[in-house]
Amino acid sequence: MLHIIPMPNKVKFIKSKSYIMPEKATYSSDFSGVWLHEFISFAAEIGCILTKVSVAADIQFNKGDLSGEEYSLQVGETSIIVMGGESVAMQHASITLRQILLQHSKRIPCVNILDKPSQSFRGFMLDVGRFFYTVEKVKKFIDIMCMHKLNVFHFHLTEDQGWRVEIKRYPNLTIKGQKRTATNFIPKKEEGFYSQEDIKEIVKYCHDRNITVMPEIDMPGHMQAAIACYSELSCFNRSLKVATHFGVKHDILCAGKDSTYEFIFNIIDELCEIFPDKYIHLGGDEVVKVRWKNCPHCNEKLKQLNLKNYEELQAHFMNVVNDYVVGKGRKCMMWNEGSITGKISKDIIWQAYQCEKELMGAVIADTLKSGRSLLNCHSGQNYLDLTYKMIPLKTTYCNQVLLPNQMGLEAALWTEYVPNMKKAYFQTFPRLGAMAENAWTDPDNLNYENFIARLESYYKMLKLMGIYNMAEAKDYEPSAVRAFLKQKWFNRRVFHWHSVHNIIDDHIYAAIDRKNHIKKLAKKEKTEASEKSSVEKK
Ligand SMILES: [Zn+2]
Repeated sequence: MLHIIPMPNKVKFIKSKSYIMPEKATYSSDFSGVWLHEFISFAAEIGCILTKVSVAADIQFNKGDLSGEEYSLQVGETSIIVMGGESVAMQHASITLRQILLQHSKRIPCVNILDKPSQSFRGFMLDVGRFFYTVEKVKKFIDIMCMHKLNVFHFHLTEDQGWRVEIKRYPNLTIKGQKRTATNFIPKKEEGFYSQEDIKEIVKYCHDRNITVMPEIDMPGHMQAAIACYSELSCFNRSLKVATHFGVKHDILCAGKDSTYEFIFNIIDELCEIFPDKYIHLGGDEVVKVRWKNCPHCNEKLKQLNLKNYEELQAHFMNVVNDYVVGKGRKCMMWNEGSITGKISKDIIWQAYQCEKELMGAVIADTLKSGRSLLNCHSGQNYLDLTYKMIPLKTTYCNQVLLPNQMGLEAALWTEYVPNMKKAYFQTFPRLGAMAENAWTDPDNLNYENFIARLESYYKMLKLMGIYNMAEAKDYEPSAVRAFLKQKWFNRRVFHWHSVHNIIDDHIYAAIDRKNHIKKLAKKEKTEASEKSSVEKK
């Protein structure tokens, strides 16, 4: 059995024959690319020095009559021949070959592999809003993506707890908005941001590895860091600090002021300059509308547009921003929100994450009706930050469902409780391998027991990449006691100061609203009384 993750789709062994990898071997290639340099370095690490020749090489990377990501890999008794139509196919083939070499050392079985991905969009999301990950760390995740044959890096750049991307028109975002004074349990500041030059470096690093980048600016919720810099973005011009604790905040962008839209358009302009790929993610999740209900600007907008409720106001907000992005030749994605399903422009792709049965039902019905595409990121299988009690490895591997109009699959690493690489690796491995195999390998070829049997070689490959602290079997399939204790530790997040803060805040604004309401009633009564008296006079 070949120990490759994700498992190639068509594998045929040529019985009892093998290829001996010489200590000094030759190679030829019709392609160039980072993958080729990395393959040569890898070969050196396992004790094989490769030299380039033009004919009859031991390892040949040849241009063949295949399209897109499809490749063939033939290990014969005298040579290894890799074929593909494009450089990306060669990259995938070289990753497969690396894993075969690592498993079998220098005597590898003769085999014919014909392989291509089952899903075209294979994503990984990194949340750098909660905790900042340096450019070097981000590059590490890109290397990891490459090794798993994933092809879209979803870069979650802004949060209540930090704004991480330089926007030249709004310098405060990365002067003030990138820094919080404390984290949930300790008075330790957290800060950091990417300059536009850093972003260009990351984008190039991705493109060199055939990975596209989808930036996310989460709106209109999850915006407290921006509001802390520019208070006029909120409904009541509130003076707030960058959020220190986690949880859903109630101060969001005001959807009634024209200046909010102008702010977002200016951000989109700069974002499109530094992120050249197709998709822009607009967030759109966890939008609590308590401020909107009390806000004169939001209520005025509601009246002007004849909208029925505040859910429709959010749909309006998302659609206006989407039109702007589409006008720039890009495509938008947003997290699926049950409450606004059906009101959102058909152009916007749902990233389906809500796993409640009825919400998912509504999203599926909407997808079928509108014909929109859908990215599957079901939080019951693909949220890497959740504990192994909540999502055991088997659940990630076996419980994936194919949704209608599904364009692909994504795993999301939220970082509220993932402050460093050590924790990130623990949460990610081996679940990312399970998700990647679901995205790449045809459903008929998936087999959990077989996957488990390949994990030893998989970990060997990860260790070679400098990755450590991966979850072991006792962690990813925990005993009842272990699961209980880990979950208790995880749940300490439930109560914190900001939940209380939200409750107090909401009462303050409800009181303001009541006062306004009483004033309105008094005014109405006065008008009615004067109308009545004028009628009586007549
Ligand atoms: Zn407002």
